[in-house]
Amino acid sequence: MSLLAGLSLSALMTAPALAADITVGMSWANYQEERWKIDESGLRAGLEEAGAELVTADAQSSNERQASDIDGLLARGVDVLLIVAWDSEAIIPSVERALAEGVPVIAYERQIEYPGVYYVAFDPVEVGRIQARELVRAQPKGDYVIIKGSPTDQYAHYVLTGQKEIIDPLIANGDITIVGEQWTDGWVPDNAQKNMENILTAVNDKVDAVLASNDGTAGGVVAALTSVGLEGIPVSGQDGDIAALNRIALGTQTVTAWKDARELGRLGAKVALELAKGTAPEDIEGSVVWDKGPKGTAQNASVLAPVTITHENLDVVVDADWISKEDLCAGV
Ligand code: BGC
Repeated sequence: MSLLAGLSLSALMTAPALAADITVGMSWANYQEERWKIDESGLRAGLEEAGAELVTADAQSSNERQASDIDGLLARGVDVLLIVAWDSEAIIPSVERALAEGVPVIAYERQIEYPGVYYVAFDPVEVGRIQARELVRAQPKGDYVIIKGSPTDQYAHYVLTGQKEIIDPLIANGDITIVGEQWTDGWVPDNAQKNMENILTAVNDKVDAVLASNDGTAGGVVAALTSVGLEGIPVSGQDGDIAALNRIALGTQTVTAWKDARELGRLGAKVALELAKGTAPEDIEGSVVWDKGPKGTAQNASVLAPVTITHENLDVVVDADWISKEDLCAGV
């Protein structure tokens, strides 16, 4: 009798009711980059407080590896899966596999445009707007370069959308001219540096400002500018990397769209636990509909706002315990 009751109960239970019974899988695209370790600290803290377990895998910039990582996480029996996709399209067969097994999928920071996939991110369009707004404030007219992010990361495309929203009217009225525009394979700083060097050569070093799409690429850009004596012209970034905040203090970077990755990690934990317990995506607190992708798919999303950080408000990141005064002011 008790065995029978146990069996029928487990058949009725499609989702674990208690957070302590939940195992969350996280598939990173490239854990080597500075920010993801901070995301993980927030994610881990949020899950540990609830008593849930976290298992992670790092695809190390490989589509094949990410597919086998996800197979491995599913084989371990994760109840919910978070994915930072290396390639927003190539990941789709893995997503379909997870959904077919009844495992909810959350696209973490990088959108995977697929019905039923939840999206958790810092608003990527707003990141681009912040970058362009501050660059235009520092350099209202002149020759601009755009160093875009990874072409296989939908996030990079949204950042570009936000940048263009601000600068397109200024291109149209002749104030700004785009003299070079390049994608950065894998968001790799060295690739950004090489692209920037090639652009500088092509335009005889006549560049007034660079819209770099994140702090890593900004680092490559500033290295290229420094080699021709142009360091100090306006350059943008995002994330709030330690080196980038230091460059803002030193005057070689203008702005970073700061994303407190600790908060996104905690949000990822919260949404993962809700979905694993069977909460409907639209019932998650603060959930909005995200339908800005190239295919126009409507997905439920939780979106955080990035924060503008320039030379004028560096105290914000110190007060938030994001960076020490020593690291911020090194060499100043
Ligand atoms: C993230 C950025 C990050 C970049 C490179 C993007 O998807 O939004 O914060 O700098 O990937 O990892």
